[in-house]
Amino acid sequence: MGYDEIVQLLESKIPDYSKSSELHLLQFHVHAYKFIAGKRHPMVVMLCKALFNLDQCMQGYAETMIERIASFNKKNFEQVIQVFGEIHVLMRASIVSDNKFIVSEPRKKKTDKNPELRSVINGLFYAAEVKTPQLFRYSNQRQSGFQITSQLSVENFDFLKINEKIVTSRVLTVRDYLVSAEEKFKAYTENDEYKNDFRLLFIVWDDYINEPISALVGPYSGLFTENSFHNESNFSIIDGVFIVRHQHQFYRMLQYGELVNSYTDVFQFVKEQFPAAFIQNPYGRKVPESILLNFGAINPNDVFYLAEYQTTDFVDWRSGIALSGLNSISQEYHQRVFNLFKDLVSERIERYINDIALFSNINLSKIMENLEQGSDNDVLLEKLKKTIFSVIRVQQHQVEDREKKNWESYNKKREMLNGHLKDLYHQKKKSELEHPCPCGGKDIYENCCFIKLSNYNYVSYSDSIG
Ligand SMILES: [Zn+2]
Repeated sequence: MGYDEIVQLLESKIPDYSKSSELHLLQFHVHAYKFIAGKRHPMVVMLCKALFNLDQCMQGYAETMIERIASFNKKNFEQVIQVFGEIHVLMRASIVSDNKFIVSEPRKKKTDKNPELRSVINGLFYAAEVKTPQLFRYSNQRQSGFQITSQLSVENFDFLKINEKIVTSRVLTVRDYLVSAEEKFKAYTENDEYKNDFRLLFIVWDDYINEPISALVGPYSGLFTENSFHNESNFSIIDGVFIVRHQHQFYRMLQYGELVNSYTDVFQFVKEQFPAAFIQNPYGRKVPESILLNFGAINPNDVFYLAEYQTTDFVDWRSGIALSGLNSISQEYHQRVFNLFKDLVSERIERYINDIALFSNINLSKIMENLEQGSDNDVLLEKLKKTIFSVIRVQQHQVEDREKKNWESYNKKREMLNGHLKDLYHQKKKSELEHPCPCGGKDIYENCCFIKLSNYNYVSYSDSIG
C-alpha cells in the first residue's frame, strides 16, 4: 500500500463528526485538525508513515491495523494506545533487522499460540511479545498519596492503608504478562524452526519505569529473584524483558501535539534517551549485546545514579520521594519509619511538570551501610530524618530553578497554539458554503467539512482526549 492510500484509508475509517454518536480518539486529529489548520495533524502523519514502513515488510499490515484502530470507540481509547505500543516496537524491530526481515504473528498453524513478531539482528533470530498496559486512569490516580511499587508485606501494606490514600502496584500486571508470554513462547518453541529464537517481552510503560523494574528485580519479591512472589513457576522460557519508557509520548502527542526528550517522531525509539531498560532473566539464556544495543537498551544497574530507576518499595508522589530497602531494617522499626516518612513528606512540593520523572530515592540499606557499626535503629531514624529533609530541600530547589521555567514556556506555547486553532476554526466556520473548503479538499465547503464537522464544537486542544 502506498503512503497516500494509507492516509486515505485512515481518514475514511475514522468516523467524522457528521453523526453525533460516532466518537473516536483520533476524530479530532484526523478530521477537525485538518479542517482548522489546513494540514494533517503530526500524529496522523507519523502513524501513516510508520504503517507505510511496516507494510513494506509485512504486506497487509497497514490495513489490518487501521481496521483495528478504527474499531475502538472513544471509551476504549486505551486500546488505541495499545496498538500504538505494538507499532512502536515493530518499527524499531523492522529498522534494525537484517534485510527488513520481520514476521508479524509468526506461527505454523492458525490454532497455534504465538508471539507478536519474529525478526533477526546480525543473524540472531528472536521472537517478541509486546504488552502495553492501560495506565491512563492509573497515572492520574497515583498523583496523590503513596504508590506501592513492589510487593509489600501484608502488615506494611495495611499500615499504609490505614494512614494514607494508597495506589497499589502494577506488579500483578507484570506477572500476568510474564505468565502469558511464557505460555505463548512455550507453544512457539515446540516448532523446530523457532526453538532457538531468543524470547523477549516488551512492556511499553510510561516515563515512570521504576515500578515494573521493581516488580521484576526488587530484591525482596521481584519476579526474577529467588524471593519471587509468584510461587508457581520461575520463568525460564523468557530470556529477558524490555521496559520501554514511552507511553506518555503518545498522550503528549495526542493532547498537545508535542513530544519530550528529543523525540521527533512518536513511533521511533531514540537510543540516546534511555528508551528501554533491559532486564535479563537470570533463569533464561543470556541475550546477546548486539540485540540489546540495537534496541538502545540499557541495563538498569548502569543508571542507578538516576534515582528513578532504582527498585523502590513505595513512592510518595506529593513530595516525589521514594523509599527502598524497607526489608533491610528490623520488623519492629517498619512502623516508625513509615510514621517518620509520612510526617515529614506529607507536604506537597509544587511541581510544574508533574509527568516528568523527578524522584529522589532514599535507600534505607545504604543509610544502614553508612552508619557506624553497632549503631542502633534510633540512629537510623535520625539519619533518615536528616536525609529526607535534605532531599526535600534539593527537590524544592530543582523545582524552583528549572521546572518553573519549563512549565511556563510549555504553557505559553500550548495557549498560543490553542488560541490560534480556535481563531482559525471560527473564521472558517464563517466561510461561505459554496466556497472551496478550507481543508483544501476538492469539494466546496458545504459538501465537505461542513457535513463532516456538523457535530463538532471547538474544545480546548488539550480536552480532545479523556
Ligand atoms: Zn473540507
